[in-house]
Amino acid sequence: MNILVINCGSSSLKYQLINMENEDAVAKGLVERIGIEGSVLTHKANDDKFVLEVPMKDHKDAIKHVLDAIVDPNHGVLKSMEEITAVGHRVVHAGEKYANSVVINDDVMKALKDCIKLAPLHNPPNIIGIEACRDLMPSTPMVAVFDTAFHQTLPKEAYMYALPYELYKDFGIRKYGFHGTSHKFVSEQAAVMLGKDAKDTKIITCHLGNGASICAVKGGKSIDTSMGFTPLAGIAMGTRCGDVDPAIMTFLITDCGMKVEEVNNLINKKSGVLGLSGLSSDFRDLENAAADGNERAQLALDVYYYRVNQTIGAYAAILNGADAIVFTAGLGENSASCREAICERLSYMGVHIDKERNNGPRGQAMEISAADSKVKVFVIPTNEELVIARDTRELVSK
Ligand code: AMP
Repeated sequence: MNILVINCGSSSLKYQLINMENEDAVAKGLVERIGIEGSVLTHKANDDKFVLEVPMKDHKDAIKHVLDAIVDPNHGVLKSMEEITAVGHRVVHAGEKYANSVVINDDVMKALKDCIKLAPLHNPPNIIGIEACRDLMPSTPMVAVFDTAFHQTLPKEAYMYALPYELYKDFGIRKYGFHGTSHKFVSEQAAVMLGKDAKDTKIITCHLGNGASICAVKGGKSIDTSMGFTPLAGIAMGTRCGDVDPAIMTFLITDCGMKVEEVNNLINKKSGVLGLSGLSSDFRDLENAAADGNERAQLALDVYYYRVNQTIGAYAAILNGADAIVFTAGLGENSASCREAICERLSYMGVHIDKERNNGPRGQAMEISAADSKVKVFVIPTNEELVIARDTRELVSK
């Protein structure tokens, strides 16, 4: 069984074709600059890279080129599109409607459109991608896998904001949480590495990438997470501010003369470690600059580590202790210095890492805690595409 996983952004599209017999990605790629000049498809299969630079006016055009690349006699991996059993789509926001992945039909499409107001930047390109695939592959089943679904187990006291209750009833204003497929994947794998049944575990998962969130997972279920109504909340990120005093927003408008769109742009694209350092949102640049004595780069890293520590502490409190802490995503998987800086301040919990293990090889799941650590610390490469493919297989096999 081959499953095509699609993740559509506003002008980009990532895909993987996964062979479910061995769960290997037999082809993967990225389309960039959809609908703008310089559209480009980069397709990788069998250690071969194929780059196609042709105008792609919309996502349907882009998906057409992706399907052509998959069945191309030279670079392709399948003889025909009929060999694609199903398509799994990443969808960011399902509101409170879906706690699990779902086979897409017209009712689901309507529900996704109803959620646009909750994720105006993310859901529209996801929907466009699904519509394009349904047009191009009308007899292939499609499944939607939601970033929010894993967090639908949050208890009410965790997801309600201390705002007038009517805002929740009338507008759905509550914490939803994101990166659910990643937190689910790494927490399940951590349970295996602990040698325990997931239902007997308490795990704190740190998805530290350009976007970043932390999740408290108890018995295999998310009970709190740092992102909120939108993916802007929680810890500081590459360019997003994370939690700040909400009164700053009105202050920027009333006292600093900023327009609403400017504030929105500032907190989403100009803040986080980029805003603090004035240098870069990429932690590699910040680590190098800090090592060269750049104080603002060091400040950005210090604020970032501090916020991660605070959140881990908060989640250790609500979990009443933790069996494991997991680091994942671009920074969490690759930066030994980030993991060391964060874990150093967790000795009160009995966390001790083994520096040699922490500097071990990248790209594989590994334990980095010392033998005497009370809490295991793992680095687990996330694989959101595989979660999407597994859910898709399960639903279409029913
Ligand atoms: P992601 O959003 O998961 O793709 O993560 C992307 C981020 O991971 C980049 O912005 C980098 O800041 C960070 N990253 C990736 N590789 C490294 C590395 N070797 N050292 C430090 N940070 C890294």
